Amino acid sequence: MPFRDIQGQAAAVEQLKRAWQNHRLPHALLFTGPDGVGKRTVALALAQALNCKSPSLDDACGECLACRKTAQGIHPDVRVLEPDGAHIKIEQIRETLQHDAVLKPMEGERKVYILDPADSLTLGAANSLLKILEEPPSAVMLVLVTAQPFALLDTIRSRCREIRFFPLTAQRLAPWLRMRLGVDEAAAQALARLSGGRPAEALRLSEPERRELRNTILAWAQNVGPQSWSEWARTLGEYQDDLTDVFDILLSWYRDLLLAVNRGPQTLWMNVDHAEAVKQALVRETPETLLDKCRALLAARDQLSRNANVQLVLEVLGMTMTQAVGAAVPRR
Ligand SMILES: [Zn+2]
Repeated sequence: MPFRDIQGQAAAVEQLKRAWQNHRLPHALLFTGPDGVGKRTVALALAQALNCKSPSLDDACGECLACRKTAQGIHPDVRVLEPDGAHIKIEQIRETLQHDAVLKPMEGERKVYILDPADSLTLGAANSLLKILEEPPSAVMLVLVTAQPFALLDTIRSRCREIRFFPLTAQRLAPWLRMRLGVDEAAAQALARLSGGRPAEALRLSEPERRELRNTILAWAQNVGPQSWSEWARTLGEYQDDLTDVFDILLSWYRDLLLAVNRGPQTLWMNVDHAEAVKQALVRETPETLLDKCRALLAARDQLSRNANVQLVLEVLGMTMTQAVGAAVPRR
């Protein structure tokens, strides 16, 4: 995908274009920013521009054989290193980088290596990479991609030029989602907001099984009674692999209710495609109960991310939510 087709990230793209046009691209770049905002896509666009056979003044043509090969992931001079298991290992750095980087490009101008995510490098791999960063072969371009730059060695970070990536605004992302997915405005807005402005995450959330999960959880949340939370929390175990998503959906729901009960503008809601349901659910809530629920869900999600006992976390969540519901005073 050439630069011109990238959604958002204008500042990052502009920085790269300028450096490329002025022949001031360093040998090592560090792309930082949240997951799913387009860091790897931009890295590949750069690789395309560097190796394109008929580039324009500031972009790849997107059509020549080199561009097509890059897009298909089969250009011999453009390599993406991903974790083998949980990590990018020292053998991968040795085989793919150390031995290969000293050779001339096979078909293009630059050998581009994209390490994604760079924070998955083992210490051995990182030290091995450091040797290449200290004396990079002239035709080599390294792009380290990460959402957690603080997890990299300082010695690596200091040898790369950092390019920052940011989430997109819903106003920017929603029209693209409408076009790409053929969904209506409310659905596009909801996806843009639920994804936190991250295009790749929005596309993931638009997949049929994610949509079904969200509909199931929202339908349940709309009808949950005071006694049901404990029971339901126990059955949440069924969603073992999807628990983070389940918590995110519930949090988005109660956050919307909290905004609504405090008369926050609807333009800030996430579940804009369920606006009527949000309004109807308000009768059973007070700001206090909603805050309690949000806190309980945040705590549970946090504990899960730190590998706490799932069953225990869910039991506690069930009890806390039941108390929160029980305390609610029905409003007339
Ligand atoms: Zn081209």
